[in-house]
Amino acid sequence: MSDSAAPERAIVIGAGLGGLASAMRLGVKGYAVTVIDRLDLPGGRGSSITQGGHRFDLGPTIVTVPQGLRDLWAACGRDFDRDVTLKPLDPFYEIRWPDGSTFTMRQDEAAMEAEVTRLSPPDLKGFRKFLSDSEDRYWFGYENLGRRPMNELWELIKVLPRFAWLRADRSVYAHAARRVRDPRLRFALSFHPLFIGGDPFRVTSMYILVSHLEKAFGVHYAMGGVQAIAKAMAQVIRDQGGTLRMGTEVDEILIENNRACGVQLMDGTRLGADLVVSNADAGHTYTRLLRNRAKRRWSDAKLKRTRWSMGLFVWYFGTRGTREMWRDVGHHTIVVGPRYQAHIRDIFIHGHLAEDMSLYVHRPSVTDPSVAPDGDDTFYVLSPVPHLGHENGVDWGREAEPYRAKMLAMLEERLLPGLSERVSESLVFTPESFRDRYLSPLGAGFSIEPRILQSAWFRPHNVSEELPGLYLAGAGTHPGAGVPGVIGTAEVLAQLVPDAAPIAPMRMAAE
Ligand SMILES: Cc1cc2nc3c(=O)[nH]c(=O)nc-3n(C[C@H](O)[C@H](O)[C@H](O)COP(=O)(O)OP(=O)(O)OC[C@H]3O[C@@H](n4cnc5c(N)ncnc54)[C@H](O)[C@@H]3O)c2cc1C
Repeated sequence: MSDSAAPERAIVIGAGLGGLASAMRLGVKGYAVTVIDRLDLPGGRGSSITQGGHRFDLGPTIVTVPQGLRDLWAACGRDFDRDVTLKPLDPFYEIRWPDGSTFTMRQDEAAMEAEVTRLSPPDLKGFRKFLSDSEDRYWFGYENLGRRPMNELWELIKVLPRFAWLRADRSVYAHAARRVRDPRLRFALSFHPLFIGGDPFRVTSMYILVSHLEKAFGVHYAMGGVQAIAKAMAQVIRDQGGTLRMGTEVDEILIENNRACGVQLMDGTRLGADLVVSNADAGHTYTRLLRNRAKRRWSDAKLKRTRWSMGLFVWYFGTRGTREMWRDVGHHTIVVGPRYQAHIRDIFIHGHLAEDMSLYVHRPSVTDPSVAPDGDDTFYVLSPVPHLGHENGVDWGREAEPYRAKMLAMLEERLLPGLSERVSESLVFTPESFRDRYLSPLGAGFSIEPRILQSAWFRPHNVSEELPGLYLAGAGTHPGAGVPGVIGTAEVLAQLVPDAAPIAPMRMAAE
């Protein structure tokens, strides 16, 4: 299909961070890239909505492993720090329990040890051991497995002994519980999988590597929100000669001679390509975009059996005249509810909307005043909830407003006194919003859950098992969700996609 007088064409479906990173990598490889997304702004879950002068960063707020972004920019011959300003946060975040006790996460080792000693002196030794366990898993799980293709079964078989030695069969919580006794510390060391859609009581303990990532590389905020990173990525793509078509939905991946040969848009327009990358959710890619092809591995039945990450209820709100209020509330706070394991079971196993909740509170205005009008604050509060696939699922049409009111009451009591009189803007996302905005199967917040038998080779491969010429990037593929994860999917993809054929020199000279 390719014409040596013109560059080979690549279409990327989806301008999520994984799609944008893939487009950048394909640009370096010499492809003429077109990125297509149904939203009006690039970034997918990392996009934003501005309402009444408040910029609501819709999804990711914590940027870890900035070198992943720096490597991506460097691969394109660019300097990330010229395009985006990352601000390191100290402290990283604060955890508050119902009994009034708190725990502040920081990068500084001595400060962290002092925090652990304050809560539970006998746990200091176990805490140190946990951090060294976390570093071991970082080198193996992140630097080794996470940065290379895992589409060959042999790649998985080779690493099984190491998995066994690291006790990857144990859950994150089980690992934390072996190292520390205090239930609050067990929570503080094990809740991280929730940020990539995993049940801490079931996700493989390989994911304790996140503690090392935070300690070694810090927790950062992108000034302008993750939206600023996405916009900078889009600019790199344009500078490479690529195109972004926003507000455009792909209806189907086209097939010719048993290869992906382009896409059909919702209005019937057909666009040809030499290869197609789907950054749409892997589930949506196989059930919807490739609906007219029989699947060998990712059949509808298999996707139905797959365990999906939980849903998210997110309340974005602005508050008037509060910048000098709530001075003890920093950029990131976790307000823990009364139950941990039983609450997680309600969300992941029973699919039941619990009476109680645990909240992650984002207050970017303390770091980046540009998110809100002068003197005001911008917040988002997130509560993990069941996805839409459980039997007797939640009726969000009925439940959303009472749930938001309950959230408000909890915030008012535990964190932000007087909040109800200060709210000036409000926007709510339920799992239905994730389904409708991002075309996320079951409205899941983070695609396929990262359980051990749904990780690495077991995830949808970055080079499609179903159709030559089709590649996948983003949270549902290897290595997985989270900003570093999806940037990683593009790094892996770049190792699988051949370089574009060189353009014929005669024509180039003539042009
Ligand atoms: C509320 C929330 C908070 C989070 N917090 C953090 C955090 O603090 N730190 C962190 O590292 N990670 C965080 N994450 C996870 C992280 O944001 C995601 O894993 C990551 O952004 C997903 O990127 P992606 O490349 O998979 O694409 P997505 O963001 O899922 O984007 C996919 C894009 O494809 C488009 N699309 C789909 N189908 C079509 C179609 N048929 N035609 C055209 N376009 C289509 C969609 O419109 C969307 O823009 C958070 C996620 C959420 C939801």
